[in-house]
Amino acid sequence: MICAYSLSVEDDGSYMLGDDTKTAELYPGFHDWRFLKDGAPHPATCAVCDRKTDAEFINPRFRVSRRNWDSVVTGDGYYLVSSAFRRVARQYSWSDVAFVELPGDSDYFWLRPSRTLTFDSDRRGTRFEHRCTACKGWFDVVGAHPIMLRDIDQPLAGGLFQTDLAFGSGHGQSPLIIAGLETAAQIKAARLRHVDLEPILSTP
Ligand SMILES: [Zn+2]
Repeated sequence: MICAYSLSVEDDGSYMLGDDTKTAELYPGFHDWRFLKDGAPHPATCAVCDRKTDAEFINPRFRVSRRNWDSVVTGDGYYLVSSAFRRVARQYSWSDVAFVELPGDSDYFWLRPSRTLTFDSDRRGTRFEHRCTACKGWFDVVGAHPIMLRDIDQPLAGGLFQTDLAFGSGHGQSPLIIAGLETAAQIKAARLRHVDLEPILSTP
């Protein structure tokens, strides 16, 4: 039984953290490059492993490069959506979802659901690897699909959520965005560009 959908959007190859980077060879096991800001390690990242450490960071000059897409995920894990996407939210009076304005791009918004769902990492067998001694986070969180949510045995009627876990490696880590059935139907009906929905099955 389908209990919800996950928002499936494509990486547009851009980085909210910026284009200023350097090669890093000191820390095997992590990415071999790091984000910089004004020549120093980027203050929104861990200088050792490059994971994001400032959950609120927005680059004031960032602009979405794929202007004809209604949703993108950046290479550093930001879900950004268009004005058309936000109109759907307004039309149906979605609650508990922030559309954070981007100072450098008035046509796109950072999509941030405030409600979380618990990902069932035990059942899914998600692996947590390469713990960073500096920020104490896991550099690699591997195994999101097929998506398994904990304690969801009935379909989610509506709403937009994010998972409590962020998946991926280093600066690319991001949570999954989950839509209840009604919300997913509203997104689908709007025929947004480059926005797909992946069904999630309930616990058997
Ligand atoms: Zn770290």
